[in-house]
Amino acid sequence: MSRNVRDEINNKLSIVDIVDKYVTLKRAGTRYTGLCPFHNEKTPSFSVTPENNLFYCFGCHKGGTIFDFIMEIENMDFPEALKFLAEKAGVELDNNYSSDSPDRKKRDAIKELYKRAAVSFEYILQNKPEAEVARDYLVKRGLTEEIVKEFRIGWAPDDRSWLLKFLKTKGYSDPFLAESGLFSQRGLGYPLFSGRIMFPLRNANGEVIAFSGRTLKDFGPKYINSPETPIFYKKRNLYGLSNAVKAVRQSGYFILCEGQMDVIAYHQAGVKNAVAPLGTAYTQEQAAILKRYSDKAVLSFDGDSAGRKAINKAVILNENHGIKSKVAVFEDKDDPADLLLNKGEKALHKVLKSTINSFDYILENAINVSNIRSPDGKEDVIRKMEDYLNSLGSEVRRDGCINEIAARLGVDTASVYKDLRRGRRKPENNQPADNRRVKKSKISSELFLLIAVVVSREEYAWVRGKIDIDDLCDERARKIYIALEECYRNEETGIDSVLNRLADEELTSLIAEKVTSEEYSINSDELIKDSVKKIKKNSLLKKREEIVRKLKNVSSITEGDVNEIELLSEKIFIDQEIEKLRLGI
Ligand SMILES: [Zn+2]
Repeated sequence: MSRNVRDEINNKLSIVDIVDKYVTLKRAGTRYTGLCPFHNEKTPSFSVTPENNLFYCFGCHKGGTIFDFIMEIENMDFPEALKFLAEKAGVELDNNYSSDSPDRKKRDAIKELYKRAAVSFEYILQNKPEAEVARDYLVKRGLTEEIVKEFRIGWAPDDRSWLLKFLKTKGYSDPFLAESGLFSQRGLGYPLFSGRIMFPLRNANGEVIAFSGRTLKDFGPKYINSPETPIFYKKRNLYGLSNAVKAVRQSGYFILCEGQMDVIAYHQAGVKNAVAPLGTAYTQEQAAILKRYSDKAVLSFDGDSAGRKAINKAVILNENHGIKSKVAVFEDKDDPADLLLNKGEKALHKVLKSTINSFDYILENAINVSNIRSPDGKEDVIRKMEDYLNSLGSEVRRDGCINEIAARLGVDTASVYKDLRRGRRKPENNQPADNRRVKKSKISSELFLLIAVVVSREEYAWVRGKIDIDDLCDERARKIYIALEECYRNEETGIDSVLNRLADEELTSLIAEKVTSEEYSINSDELIKDSVKKIKKNSLLKKREEIVRKLKNVSSITEGDVNEIELLSEKIFIDQEIEKLRLGI
């Protein structure tokens, strides 16, 4: 593992810029504060210190470096976070990170291609006379200029030879273009998108990785979506996610829509936390991705029967991933885009205000399609509710739901349980346990000192001359001492390098907390000198005690033993050291 890369990245990036993508930060003295992205809160207890490039939350006690932040918030492992941040810092990773493996090179080249295509489509929509028809259509659909720009909507020209000609001037080879996902299997003479309004799909980094193209003609498929390519795996991406991430974190929930026009409608109405799958039904992978950002969802699907079925599935999928859903109910043929166009923003906000919880929604639907006066109908309802009930992560919630079902059907709760047990499959246990919660523990004077040294690193050279690892008994202090010593020998200076060597989540959070609370910043050299003295004295007193104890044992056997003489001289030496400490020499 190359050490320099990590340092280099850490030195080039400011934690304020990194965190700002996810959290709205306000300056507060030397720190910045905001609402914690890792737990629900109304008053900010999340804090970042640019001076040390650390974050810490006083509410949930999560804290650490930019790497820890990205690993936590993007649900990445360390190599992924390193890559992610290296790109942002413009730092090249060496071969160990396979940054220039053929796969990686190819993906980068395809991304570059999509970026170029997206910019050109956008330019054509904004500027070319031939795109007038598209501009008119977007106006007719009620889209503002700002939202068209925000979602980088474009226009693929009618001329079917345009795209190939354009890309050839950029020097792309035929075999590469054939694999790019921009052309039909039939060959480069057949672009997938021509005469279509282009909606680029972007990944979490905001890079264009696919398109959805809408035709304005009356024939052919209304929408065409990019096929899967080395950079686009449709199950794992959501339309609008990069635009929505911040708002999802702020509002504490996401809105799942059916298609991109709905997403755009919400955003235009100022509701910026809407996303949608593209070219696929809502998937496990997408639910897992959304869970990184929030555990609450509002499902916003069409009011027709297909929409209702999709809601049922999405509710269960979400429950399996620990996401609780509410349902935004639309009239029969309405969807968010129509509602915004025909009745305005207020109507859309109204729907969002009157969401109903997923259990009530699913139960009502099950009852509506069954004749619950008949025994068969009652059984039918139970069967229809089964998947939902099995998906619930909480037994208490499940009990509550079963009681309500029994009451609605006018049957005994015990019978509902019996029926369910008969048909029961094992529910998926996807409730992630949050075992990262840090115990608030008392800090020993040793730990206090070592944290102070982490904060004021220039003091370490002096401290290591005074205190040896054997002077420390606090296990956590010993760990930090070792990390500091390793950094010292490798001439690594940042806090990040110590935390990296520690590789201990609890200590990382603790150090981040102490750094953020600034209790170590005032008079730090005094603090350190006093602590060193205290620890050294404690350590010497302990050694003295030990010697005195040994001396007692020795004297009981033989007098004038060599051992005894050694012990006595050591005791004298220790007494002198203690006296020196007392006098401050
Ligand atoms: Zn927190």
